[in-house]
Order: sequence, then structure tokens, then C-alpha cells
Amino acid sequence: MADFEKPSNTEEEYFAREEIEKKRRLALKQAEELAKAEKKKLKELHHMHCPKCGMKMQAVKKGPIEVDSCFHCGGIFLDKGELEALVKNKREAHPVMEAILNWVKK
Ligand SMILES: [Zn+2]
Repeated sequence: MADFEKPSNTEEEYFAREEIEKKRRLALKQAEELAKAEKKKLKELHHMHCPKCGMKMQAVKKGPIEVDSCFHCGGIFLDKGELEALVKNKREAHPVMEAILNWVKK
């Protein structure tokens, strides 16, 4: 045990424990802030970039949804719920999917 953790009386012990707890909370807060900053940096770096080739994707609106399309490798990215929205109406789904496939075709 380190000297600062060896209090001579109860009051000192209390303050020593408080001090350690304060430092532990500060370290936790710093870790949270660092994680938040990392997350923000990652989003800035990767937002609207193709997960396959890394090139910038383009948002293309068709029917009820907006798909992110990569005109470099032909990849298509659907946001949460967009695939469900697309297949919900099967009559609409086929032409929309066909149109999407035609855009990114080389
Ligand atoms: Zn791509």
C-alpha cells in the first residue's frame, strides 16, 4: 500500500478515500470524453464513404427511399428500415430495385 493510502486517523482516511474516488471519477470522465471524440472522428472520416472501396457515395432518391450508391464499385448502402420499406410494397419494390441496379451498373 502506498503512503498516501495509509491514513493515521478516520478523518484522514475519509478524505484520502474521497480524493481517490474523485480521481477515479475524473479518469472515467476523461475516458468517456475520449471515446466520444474518437466516435466523432470516425464518423467524420467514414461518413458517406463506401465500406467496400472507400470512395465517396452519393445519395440517390427513388420512390419512398434514399439509397447511398457508390458509382465506383457499384455498392449500395441502405439505412436502417429502408430495406423493410422497400419490400413492404412488393409491387413498388421490383421497379425501385431495378432502377437502383441500373444506376450503379457500369
Ligand atoms: Zn465502392
